[in-house]
Amino acid sequence: MANVDSPRPSPKRRLPLVDDAAPGVGSRAPERDADGAVRAGSFDDDAFIPGAGSLGRDGKRLRPYPADVRGRFVRARRVVYYGLIVLWAALPWIPIGGHPAVFLDVERRVFYLFGATFNAQDLWLAFFLLSGFGFGLLCVTALLGRAWCGWACPQTVFTEAVFRPIERLVNGPRNEALRRASATASADAVVRRVVTHALYAVAAFLVAHVFLAYFVSLPGLFAMMSTRPRAHPEAFAWMLGTTALVYVAFAVFREQFCVVMCPYGRLQSVLLDDDALVVGYDVRRGEPRGKAGAADTGDCVDCKRCVVVCPTGIDIREGLQLDCIACTACIDACDEVMDRLDRPRGLVRYDSLRGLRGEKRRVLRPRLVAYATLLVVGFVVAAVAARGREPFEANLLRLPGAPYTRDAGVLRNGFEVHLVNKESAPMTFVLEPGDGNQADLVIPIATVEVAATTSRRIPIFATVPEDHFAGPRPVVVRIRTDRSQREVRATFLGARAAEVR
Ligand code: SF4
Ligand code: SF4
Repeated sequence: MANVDSPRPSPKRRLPLVDDAAPGVGSRAPERDADGAVRAGSFDDDAFIPGAGSLGRDGKRLRPYPADVRGRFVRARRVVYYGLIVLWAALPWIPIGGHPAVFLDVERRVFYLFGATFNAQDLWLAFFLLSGFGFGLLCVTALLGRAWCGWACPQTVFTEAVFRPIERLVNGPRNEALRRASATASADAVVRRVVTHALYAVAAFLVAHVFLAYFVSLPGLFAMMSTRPRAHPEAFAWMLGTTALVYVAFAVFREQFCVVMCPYGRLQSVLLDDDALVVGYDVRRGEPRGKAGAADTGDCVDCKRCVVVCPTGIDIREGLQLDCIACTACIDACDEVMDRLDRPRGLVRYDSLRGLRGEKRRVLRPRLVAYATLLVVGFVVAAVAARGREPFEANLLRLPGAPYTRDAGVLRNGFEVHLVNKESAPMTFVLEPGDGNQADLVIPIATVEVAATTSRRIPIFATVPEDHFAGPRPVVVRIRTDRSQREVRATFLGARAAEVR
């Protein structure tokens, strides 16, 4: 049995559907008949249909052309996919607090997220955002298996909702598309291929533009689109690069991205356990396969409908495989067959590995509790950290040059207060001596207005009569706004003339 974490020993990587020998995924020997022969539908490498899946035994790609399928999950997925795309395309259009709902102004290092404004100093909050997303994904995986892959991952969403329909429109259903793909020299096939890829490129171009709107805002995007590329070469290069990436990911790489590249997909062998929900085939009910009406056969009539609809080109009956993105197409396909045969649905279904073995599924289990606890702890810490986030940043910095000057018996240090307004509205600051300050402060601009998400530097001079100077002493400036205040500190330096000589 192949270890799913090791380099690919064969074109197909699989996790066992039933595990009698050990708990967890990936440790079962193939099932054998009484005479020792490997049973159809078992998991021995040698028992696999050569060339099935999206990679052939020679390592070359076998591009899947999935057949159309109808059913409840297909309908539900379509609603989710188009809903997600509409939401994604709408976020740069929806104004919240005078800014787009999501606008990542990388050039100014200001980020607008659903009415909140963050800047470069708040980047540490991204740690909580990313770890929260990670723990959330772990929770979802422990509970619902690869629901993310099948229902919400951009790779699946755009492939199934945008790029696959283009392919279907130009090249026809599976059989026609397969015929055209093999007729490489026919003029009709060549023209269709060119049209398909031209439409892919247009779709990638549009996707890239919406994606770019997240970083330059819609007005910025429209302004760029109405001027020549040489007026904004950097943005134009980003747009071309993003278009190329989208095209390669969705038109060329497609299921290979999930199968070969995606780290989340590669981690499934450790993330899934026997109680996670997966799309699986009921071996006990389906085997042995045989024609409808044949004696001593299970419910699977070996029609291979579940195989031809699979976007990654695998046979779900061979067990849970890393290539399975839980898209549910095979569930709908098999349900359709079962309906026609007047047999109960669910030969291929959402269930846990334990459930497929006829055992009771445990929903609440240690790993789910651990992931959920980490998620809640992370959420609480993030909420507390976000609440304690200051609306402005302030620092007291020494001016470059000599640390002090002496003038008519007075020692003088030059500083500047660096103010950063992190909010999306102008902010007024009042500067004054703070508690514990031990120098005379000259603050030329005591009331300062700083525009939204910008910064200003205000010079300040601290003086101490030379006679009074006995060593370094604190300089403290209090900075007040109408909502909060804080003090910034520096050290006054100097030396008496007598000491210098
Ligand atoms: S669609 Fe159902 S009946 Fe047909 S091969 Fe697949 S599991 Fe068997
Ligand atoms: S095996 Fe079924 S659920 Fe998995 S990718 Fe193929 S069609 Fe989708």
